[in-house]
Amino acid sequence: MEAKCVIKTTKSLCPICLNIVEAEVLLENGRVMIEKQCPEHGMFRDTYWSDSELFMKFEKFAHDGNGVENPHTNSLKGCPFDCGLCPNHKTTTILANIDVTNRCNMKCPICFANASVSGRLYEPSLGEIEKMLRILREERPVPCPAVQFSGGEPTVREDLPQIFRIASSLGFSQIQVATNGIKMANSVDYCMELKKSGLKTIYLQFDGLTPDSYIKTRGFNALPIKLRAIENLRKSGLKSVVLVPTLAKGVNDDQMGVMIDFAFENSDVVKCINVQPISFAGRVEAEELHNMRITIPDFFKLVEEQTDGQITRHDFYPVPFVVPVSRFIEAWKNEEYVEFTVHPHCGAGTYLFKEGDRIIPITQFFDVEGMFEYIEEQIEEVRKGRIGKAKSAVGLLAKLHTFVDNSKAPEGVNPYKLLYNVLTRGDLESTAEFHRNTVFLGVMHFQDAYNFDIERVCRCGIHYVLPDGKVVPFCTYNTLYREEFEKRYSRPL
Ligand code: SF4
Ligand code: SF4
Repeated sequence: MEAKCVIKTTKSLCPICLNIVEAEVLLENGRVMIEKQCPEHGMFRDTYWSDSELFMKFEKFAHDGNGVENPHTNSLKGCPFDCGLCPNHKTTTILANIDVTNRCNMKCPICFANASVSGRLYEPSLGEIEKMLRILREERPVPCPAVQFSGGEPTVREDLPQIFRIASSLGFSQIQVATNGIKMANSVDYCMELKKSGLKTIYLQFDGLTPDSYIKTRGFNALPIKLRAIENLRKSGLKSVVLVPTLAKGVNDDQMGVMIDFAFENSDVVKCINVQPISFAGRVEAEELHNMRITIPDFFKLVEEQTDGQITRHDFYPVPFVVPVSRFIEAWKNEEYVEFTVHPHCGAGTYLFKEGDRIIPITQFFDVEGMFEYIEEQIEEVRKGRIGKAKSAVGLLAKLHTFVDNSKAPEGVNPYKLLYNVLTRGDLESTAEFHRNTVFLGVMHFQDAYNFDIERVCRCGIHYVLPDGKVVPFCTYNTLYREEFEKRYSRPL
């Protein structure tokens, strides 16, 4: 039996009063736990990560960003009560969320946006949305490149195409919508209209491939709607769909394998599966929390089991793993790019290829760690002034073939060429070319008050922008700010 040992101390929240409390992150029997004591409400324990070995491995890939040059608030009360972004925040806005309504055309039992149940309407005007979009584009040193419109259900707004047009005119390269797909399932013309107005990517709620997964999460069998929506999007030429399952134990945790197969069968349209383990709102009993919590390593285990070991936990890397690549492209092109400096325990992903029936993760023919270590060394050399930026970039391109084993790559795929193009061009076309051949399997574990870690939120790169001009990290918004904010900016229905 492994002794209990403290890995780090941090700050968290009391899940009852939402006051900030000291917390310990502990190693315990191969798991990583978070423990905290509220003077008024007692002790709380939760699983932070269910695999301590992977926790340590991911920790190695942490990269801190420098935050924004033009924060919107001052550091007065301390994190997480100064959002934001405040001068202490470490990551710029990688992807912004704008809730365009809290109305919805469904009533899901697990919805964290709590659409419409409050009896109040939150729906910013076009003018307010434009103001919010401008704030994002004014962010420095790098303007926010990607925006996702969410809700409620954004498609209940008749002026959604107009919103996309405004975002397009302001220079967002990625315009996304998070949707249940009902409107898309009902009309190809509607999908075409969205495409014409600048929409690039559809985040489609997709909980599995059995009616049961939907009956439990959404209250009815929504699977036929999802399939029709994908078909209509295909017909309209909107071919960048991300399947977004909310993963819950005993509900759809048996669906990972079939969802990966489904994504490959539809890979002309489905580019990505982005899994979100369920987070908890309100008071949850300790036993229920223990039984229901799914952490990122639990998701890896499900994938490994349900793909007969074709994808293993070692094929996944944390989000900040890609930071050296963006630094390389910056040096090469002499331009600033957003850096994915979110906390290494927030999310992870891997690229999957397919040959016949066999799934081949990128890690099987590409020495990703070797290449990334090499890039890190080169960046260090540049930092110390030993070599110039251009020389380091040329050196990497010359060495690139040593990290790639074309013989193990899927037939018809030339990984060397794909990577060369991404690294040297770094544009939408080269990344699109890369994505044509793959399905990206990603996971992001949004926090709740039980597993909240201040170190994660202050590195968050997914931000809400609000009509008052504040930019608030996603997990602080949903845990601390949403209720009060929606009260303040909504009106009775
Ligand atoms: S989460 Fe970020 S913006 Fe909010 S208070 Fe903490 S450091 Fe500041
Ligand atoms: S949204 Fe939450 S889980 Fe995702 S990067 Fe931000 S803090 Fe981490």
